[in-house]
Amino acid sequence: MGVTRHDWTKGEILEIYNKPLMELLYEAATVHRKFHDPNEVQVSTLLSIKTGGCSEDCGYCPQAARYNTDIEGNDLMSVPHVKAQALRAKEAGSSRVCMGAAWRNVKDGPEFDQVLEMVRTINKLDMEVCCTLGMVTENQAKRLSEAGLYAYNHNLDTSEDYYKDVISTRAFEDRLETIDHVRKSNITVCSGGIIGMGEKLEDRAGMLVALSSLNPQPESTPINALVPVEGTPMADIEPIEIWEMIRMVATTRIIMPETQVRLSAGRTEMSREGQALCFFAGANSIFAGDKLLTTPNPDVNEDMAMFEVLGLNPQKPFAKYQQPKTVEAKDSEFEALGEKPKWSRPGHTIERNEQAKQKAKLNS
Ligand code: SF4
Repeated sequence: MGVTRHDWTKGEILEIYNKPLMELLYEAATVHRKFHDPNEVQVSTLLSIKTGGCSEDCGYCPQAARYNTDIEGNDLMSVPHVKAQALRAKEAGSSRVCMGAAWRNVKDGPEFDQVLEMVRTINKLDMEVCCTLGMVTENQAKRLSEAGLYAYNHNLDTSEDYYKDVISTRAFEDRLETIDHVRKSNITVCSGGIIGMGEKLEDRAGMLVALSSLNPQPESTPINALVPVEGTPMADIEPIEIWEMIRMVATTRIIMPETQVRLSAGRTEMSREGQALCFFAGANSIFAGDKLLTTPNPDVNEDMAMFEVLGLNPQKPFAKYQQPKTVEAKDSEFEALGEKPKWSRPGHTIERNEQAKQKAKLNS
């Protein structure tokens, strides 16, 4: 124990995942203590800066334009609005702001310039800034880095095999390519996935093989539980049991010892006891605020009360890596190149996604 490995096999990971729970917890907690302060948990605030109307067909997502969900779409938020939200989050104990936009990919132009300004503004508040904006080119990642971006989130979602049953509008390799662009830009990588989408245990292990084989491994890995939303292709999937979440967190902790493991969507369904076991198993970050992009999340006061009961402290910003410097727009050394990602899966369809799309058409 103690050396970060990049050659984990599916079989080895499954063996860890399926251990008797007490053994798994003990092993994960031991790794956790070696690499992290077990009494510190980072509180991050997720802000949906542009909601809904996305052209992708992710089977779990209520923001995809083609499904009929009751999400209210919003245009891109203004910089002052984002600043006010970030200040509120900071006062409530958050050390990181993650800004999400429902885009297939970043397009150079005024909207991206506005996002760059948001990054500059929040970095100047001495908070970690993370963005999740879809696919980015290397040049765009460099512009984000120059503005002071600390992390870029781009989830692998699931295994390469199961990815084809979840999303038809892009490929697993596209995800890896964006992660590579982020890595080349000196931004820390945040990448994880969702469990409870009808995948097999082998798929959970497959996703962890892909994440752990990245060198360096992602600095941050969110583990989400599917929150089934009416109108999406995955609306009827039964929610997973807490034990699966605990096992997934513990396994992630063991094979990615230095990574910040984030307990993400699905926390409203978890008891305090369940979350405490996840923290014991190695989760060391939560998302605060009553909404996680568009799905419900526990209220920040509830979280702080839970921290008090458990004796946990919110982590300070930049506890692991230095705060990036912000370069103003007028001093930027990068130009907008207007690059576009190619449509990598023409003609690929997923029956479940098609049915949800047809249903949405009938209801409109
Ligand atoms: S997960 Fe992101 S890319 Fe996929 S449909 Fe939702 S907003 Fe679009």
